[in-house]
Amino acid sequence: MTPAAETSKRVQAGPGPVDVLGLDRDALQAWVGTLGHKPFRARQLLRWLHQRGADSFAGMSDLARELREELEVRATIGAAPVLRREDSRDGTRKWLIDVGAGEAVETVYIPEPGRGTLCVSSQAGCAVHCAFCATGAQGFSRNLTSGQIAGQLWMANRELRAQGLGERPVTNVVLMGMGEPLQNYDALLPALRLMLDDDAYGLSRRRVTVSTAGMVPMIDRLARDCPVALAVSLHAPDDALRDRLVPLNRKYPLRELLAACRRYLEFAPRDFITIEYVLLAGVNDSPEQARAVLALLRTLSCKVNLIAFNPYPGSELRRPEPAVVKAFASVLQEGGLTVTTRRTRGDDIDAACGQLAGSVRDRTEVVLRRRDAVSAAEPAAEPAAESAAESAAESA
Ligand code: SF4
Repeated sequence: MTPAAETSKRVQAGPGPVDVLGLDRDALQAWVGTLGHKPFRARQLLRWLHQRGADSFAGMSDLARELREELEVRATIGAAPVLRREDSRDGTRKWLIDVGAGEAVETVYIPEPGRGTLCVSSQAGCAVHCAFCATGAQGFSRNLTSGQIAGQLWMANRELRAQGLGERPVTNVVLMGMGEPLQNYDALLPALRLMLDDDAYGLSRRRVTVSTAGMVPMIDRLARDCPVALAVSLHAPDDALRDRLVPLNRKYPLRELLAACRRYLEFAPRDFITIEYVLLAGVNDSPEQARAVLALLRTLSCKVNLIAFNPYPGSELRRPEPAVVKAFASVLQEGGLTVTTRRTRGDDIDAACGQLAGSVRDRTEVVLRRRDAVSAAEPAAEPAAESAAESAAESA
């Protein structure tokens, strides 16, 4: 679809009011144009909505009264309501957000010296079913809209600003919350464009990271449409194990995934891809497996982010001992790779990587069903496992 056709499809929306929070600049210009207004009105709206965090049209004082009245009738600012907020001892904050139809997702803010990272969800549940992930254990429920994705940033900035944490408390965004963002591409793309737009959130491409379990064709599309920083969930050094941990591997095996990473590097805002690897005790954490990972990645420009598995209720997987994590990291480092070992944040509020579950429904049955299905599908030797919305692309 051409960009013009894409924009037109988005602004044609349904019969109800248009959620302007999810319209990027092109779509907003097209939409105000249909109301007979000049394109610069879109810029004013962007600034009110995303820079100032306006939650109503009435106070948008530099818009013509006629336009404000029209907006009241034809538009909505559709940020999803916050159901609950939890604060970790370490300053990490988690919000549970209502995305409709009895579903909720989680958004996590991780403050660090000099930056604040927001981990954003893109789907309620997830269809990828990674064996180690609380979200994957739920199954897929629904895609978030562009407004619900961008709205997480809108909400976090508003709330954190109100607490005196600066004008733009969120400096980095990682699409590593619930869901596989590249399986909700049509909604993701406008939200990414808003994150980068100087009249909206104005983040640099290096400070916005999309994390994928390996949607190869969509990695190529992202490279063309909006090449932000890319993180790829690896989690296993060979196809046999990765087929079990990240079932998407059966469709896009390692060779294809690594080739897509190489192609992406031509467009990436950094000269490396972040590789995420969740370490699961007894599953993918041996020195032999570390050497196999090294062999796989040696010629790829990448940084490896190791994450010790964060247990969640219902999971039988275990976190490796710190000495095992250290030994795994050493093999990679001695082989010349840049490695970071991710510090667990917010695990006292289940906000750490892989722990986001979010639904307001009781998912116990779904989790148990999923676990049974995984055990039935695997050879008996080892427990299947794997983590989730992982870690973070270190920011600029
Ligand atoms: S790790 Fe990511 S892609 Fe895999 S199931 Fe969890 S949310 Fe989905």
